[in-house]
Amino acid sequence: MPGTLTFEVLKRQVADGAIDTVLACLVDMQGRLMGKRFHAANFVETSFEETHCCNYLLATDLEMSTSEGFAATNWREGYGDYVMKPDLSTIRPVPWLEGTAMVLCDVLDHHTHQPVPHSPRAILKAQIDRLSALGFEAMMATELEFFLFARSFAEIEKSGFRDLEPIGGYNEDYHIFQTTKDEGVLRPIRNHLFAAGLPIENTKGEAEAGQQELNIRYAAALDCADHHTIAKHAIKEIAWQQGHAASFLAKWHPGRTGSSSHVHQSLWRGGEAAFVDASDELGMSKLMKHYVAGLIAYAPDYTYFLAPNVNSYKRFAKGTFAPTKTVWSVDNRTAGFRLCGAGTKGVRIECRIGGSDLNPYLAQAAMLAAGIRGIEDKLELAPPTRGDVYEDASAGDIPQSLRRAVENLHGSAFLREVMGDAVVDHYARAGEWELEQFDRVVTDWEIARGFERA
Ligand code: ADP
Repeated sequence: MPGTLTFEVLKRQVADGAIDTVLACLVDMQGRLMGKRFHAANFVETSFEETHCCNYLLATDLEMSTSEGFAATNWREGYGDYVMKPDLSTIRPVPWLEGTAMVLCDVLDHHTHQPVPHSPRAILKAQIDRLSALGFEAMMATELEFFLFARSFAEIEKSGFRDLEPIGGYNEDYHIFQTTKDEGVLRPIRNHLFAAGLPIENTKGEAEAGQQELNIRYAAALDCADHHTIAKHAIKEIAWQQGHAASFLAKWHPGRTGSSSHVHQSLWRGGEAAFVDASDELGMSKLMKHYVAGLIAYAPDYTYFLAPNVNSYKRFAKGTFAPTKTVWSVDNRTAGFRLCGAGTKGVRIECRIGGSDLNPYLAQAAMLAAGIRGIEDKLELAPPTRGDVYEDASAGDIPQSLRRAVENLHGSAFLREVMGDAVVDHYARAGEWELEQFDRVVTDWEIARGFERA
């Protein structure tokens, strides 16, 4: 069971007063939790069956504006309701909030009660089902990198987002002394999430002042995405409780390393690792090679799902450990895909393209779809790239801008075939909307550069 509380146990805890609040949450297009805070008595009596929300929640941007141009949700259709259907297998306590439990909801059409196709959880479930039809289960792990800041969200906002002082003074990569100073925030993050049923492995300092990483043990793809979303949410809330801010922006400062969300992937059949072949030089099965070939072949099509914001593309820079090329390598951190655990039962492929701002359901769904296509078409895997991949002119490029990634998404016959036109058009529109908003802005850089000298 992915959650830690059964509905029966929740009812008992509500009856004895241990739980008084239940958060019913859907996951939005940006990978955030949206929903309602129920009085627990109401939830266990009636609302556990279903509750409702305005359908704009799956047709909005980071600022919750009523973005235009979506076929599914618009002023013409009058912004109706969706059903939020609690997935009772995901009930868990929220130990960092008093007397509170949480449940994740699937999003259903108000009239047909069918899954809303562009709901992130539904998109991932669809690809998991396709994989299951082939006889496999995907195990995934997403690493969460983020920055902690000295001041609170409110103080930073008041300063016009200029008072951005990271919590630490220097690069804290694997640094035990420096991360001891951050334990006031990170220890409760690890312990509360663990108590909420997330298989927390560790936190570690990352390669910049104030930068952190949380690692969660790999799990079935849907559980992994649920874990990622709950962990990201908890990190922000616990940082806020301590008077700090946590940011998952992919790149908050031009001169500092960006934040990634690497995705580790392996396929299993009947509890056995299907990526393993002890007779292969690197321990990779044929199945794994086809899967990785699919990941690489379609990376330009699905980059939008790994890098959904204008800012995401500022992270892809040479010499920063963020990749720029769609090739694979053996334990080499400059490539888009890195083979990990070569020659062991834990052999897996790590995608290093995604930024910390990705939506894990969409990222995993797109990569599963690409891997499945690699398996179906028995795509050949080129030999691994060696050396400094940044300088390899023969290697394919990751799209360099949101504009290019959105064009690729929109024009992808492959994604249209495996995800459906409605889903592709919905997210391509979200990307276009983001670009339209950005194109309207006059940036500080333009003013400083041209005010006097233009
Ligand atoms: P590194 O620190 O070198 O990136 P780790 O050993 O910390 O590697 O593993 C990174 C992530 O990979 C962890 O979250 C771990 O749970 C996950 N992982 C380990 N084995 C597998 C596997 N077979 N499939 C998917 N993920 C895995």
